[in-house]
Amino acid sequence: MLAGMTTVDTRAVHAGRDDLAALGVHVPPIDLSTTNPLPSVHDGGDAYELLATGGTPPPGTSAVYQRLWNPTVARFETALAELEDTTDAVAFASGMAALTAALLAATRDGRRHLVAVRPLYGGTDHVLATGLLGTDVTWARPDEVAAAVRPDTALVVAETPANPTLDLVDIRVLADAAGDVPLLIDNTVATPVLQQPARHGAALVLHSATKSIGGHGDVLAGVVAGDPHWAARLRQVRALTGAVLHPLGAYLLHRGLQTLPLRVRAQQAGAEKIAAWLADHPAVERVHHPGLDDHAGLIGRQLAGPGSLLAFRVRGGAPAAAAVAGACRLITHAVSLGGVDTLVQHPASLTHRPVDGDAKPDGGLLRLSVGLEDPEDLRADLAQALAVA
Ligand SMILES: *Cc1c(COP(=O)(O)O)cnc(C)c1O
Repeated sequence: MLAGMTTVDTRAVHAGRDDLAALGVHVPPIDLSTTNPLPSVHDGGDAYELLATGGTPPPGTSAVYQRLWNPTVARFETALAELEDTTDAVAFASGMAALTAALLAATRDGRRHLVAVRPLYGGTDHVLATGLLGTDVTWARPDEVAAAVRPDTALVVAETPANPTLDLVDIRVLADAAGDVPLLIDNTVATPVLQQPARHGAALVLHSATKSIGGHGDVLAGVVAGDPHWAARLRQVRALTGAVLHPLGAYLLHRGLQTLPLRVRAQQAGAEKIAAWLADHPAVERVHHPGLDDHAGLIGRQLAGPGSLLAFRVRGGAPAAAAVAGACRLITHAVSLGGVDTLVQHPASLTHRPVDGDAKPDGGLLRLSVGLEDPEDLRADLAQALAVA
């Protein structure tokens, strides 16, 4: 409702809360009901039919059952859609559940071919490479996408900035190359604070909300933003397959959105300092951070800033990288990203372990998700870890 009238900072604070004052409350109520009273067999049946085919309950009607719809989850979805500048969003139990639902929704009419641009999050790469969901993938560089699209192509999948090397893709160019085929962009790394892919032609915008949106490492969740047609398909997949987000998680994510712009910008400022310092460090061969490279004007035009994720290749390859990860003290050696505390991990062994052959990250590469600590303290920890290794 506020989209277009206000900045992302203001929307983040108020989105999904328009009706609270009329309810006489200041924060969103949490509805934990797994089942809902039915006014009559007839009306209950109608509501069931509507919800199981991807609809939402009109005001005053029964939500029937939590797997079909939940108002606390819907509030978070409304807020996220407002930040992504889409009409709708549908939340799931995890980012991978959200991706699964998007793939099932896109291939529903029998077209099973996908075109995917590497690098992608390792879990996404794994699902596509195995064809576990009945899909058939063609890997393509951005400039190969138009040629890779076939009559039976259901979806083009890409991630920008991409995990873990922070490669950038021009979303508008990719959407044009995809033509009539819908484009899904994984926007987990950028967050809607820095990038709104739907504005550049993406039909579907995916998040692992586990990362920056939750921001505190205590909620596993995913969400897909898009138009009402896609939202109905996604809700139907969710209702039938059951990968729902718990309302307590949705409440925490909705609360997390309020500080998302502040967190993203503060973590980004820290990451820029760390990236610049690492780039001059003698034990570091190469630093990947969007702010360090020239990206043909994408920073500013598509991506508001380089973000809080970076990767660096240490001299001495995988053994040296493992030693650095193990020697960090303040920085936690753990997978995941986007949270308030800084995490380091070795993509080739962990998040990108399943990625095959040439597409696998370099063994000397470490990924660092910069949190809200004082960058000087992070620098001191990295300095001692690099010295040990
Ligand atoms: C973590 C992650 C996912 C998967 O999300 P889960 O919440 O772990 O299921 C997908 N894409 C990206 C970019 C991620 O970082």
